[in-house]
Amino acid sequence: MIDTAQKNKNIIEIRDLVKVYKTPAGEFTAIKGLDVDVQRGEFVAVIGKSGSGKSTFINMLTGIDRPSTGSIYIDGAPIHDYTEAQMAVWRGKNLGIVFQFFQLLPTLTVLENVILPMELNNLYSKAERRERAMNLLEKVEMTQQANKLPAAISGGQQQRVAIARALANDPPLIVADEPTGNLDSKTAEKIFLLFEDLVASGKTILMVTHDSDLARRANRTILISDGEVVNEYLVRALSSLNQDQLIEVVKHVKPHAYPRDTNIIHEGEVGDKFYIILEGKVDIVLAQRGGGSVVVNQLHPGNYFGEMALLGSGIRTATVRVTSDADAKLIALDNKAFNNLINESRLLREELTKITAERAIPQRDHATMRIKRVVPQGEK
Ligand code: ADP
Ligand code: MG
Repeated sequence: MIDTAQKNKNIIEIRDLVKVYKTPAGEFTAIKGLDVDVQRGEFVAVIGKSGSGKSTFINMLTGIDRPSTGSIYIDGAPIHDYTEAQMAVWRGKNLGIVFQFFQLLPTLTVLENVILPMELNNLYSKAERRERAMNLLEKVEMTQQANKLPAAISGGQQQRVAIARALANDPPLIVADEPTGNLDSKTAEKIFLLFEDLVASGKTILMVTHDSDLARRANRTILISDGEVVNEYLVRALSSLNQDQLIEVVKHVKPHAYPRDTNIIHEGEVGDKFYIILEGKVDIVLAQRGGGSVVVNQLHPGNYFGEMALLGSGIRTATVRVTSDADAKLIALDNKAFNNLINESRLLREELTKITAERAIPQRDHATMRIKRVVPQGEK
């Protein structure tokens, strides 16, 4: 078998993943064709409204639930094809799972709970298991409680033990479904710091969370809306919005493709749209006094433009053109949608004001512009 996941650095490769639940009321498609890649060592937050499909998605990674169609490769393993028995063996060695409700076995001590996965998967010698478990409990600051039953410790402590248990077999990937959902914010912060340490030590983590502030601190955010992943560049561009505002944007605007070398907006023209780049690149081009034009900047997916006319005089201060090496995909918000957004989000307003100020400097003084490429007159 060709090991596609290992060739590049992706630990997870998901293609066209679909989950259809059969219910008495008929079929319900909870996941509608997800494509997701995760690189080794990434810390990915999975966010979205309740019922959007986060748990369904995560459960297909752990094998708790099986895909209807599509593929999931983890470290090259085609887990979508695995039988239950293969899945159980694979999961025991490759995956650490943390749930919202800690799910420690109530009749085993803290230490025994952490030892259990090593026993079940027949890993390490008996003495090693105990030593490993104690080391893991030390990592989560729970050695003092090693011989207590779960009922005798707090929720935050139980979650720390659950994390130690998830690490018992040293899995490269940790998947957590709302691990801080049942904890107060101070305890949640501790758990999050623990995850950050794990990522720093080379683990890959996917964490479903309700907490937008925690999500912002991960390397990446996957926003799921009605069973679909919202374009990540859009999420990044509008990271100062909250989830509801983002989903509003997604519902009301559709991406539009522009062929390479197309001018999207023209300097001097009246402008009434705000653009966010999803694919491809654009050049920011200024006309020169003596004729010709000059490229002053290049923008990438996750960047936006067009805000200056909307916030200022209404006149476009530059021409924006798709680069000649690839087509571009953008979303455009009209003036009304744009104004709604900045009225609702102080963070976005502040960010745009800052960007506008930064971008305005080169236009006041052409001599200080960082010139990337001079375009001779006549050439487009
Ligand atoms: P989230 O974790 O984002 O809150 P879920 O993945 O749990 O969302 O659920 C996504 C959608 O799928 C919801 O509409 C939910 O009602 C539905 N769903 C989840 N599990 C089942 C199931 N076993 N049978 C039928 N529908 C389900
Ligand atoms: Mg859920």
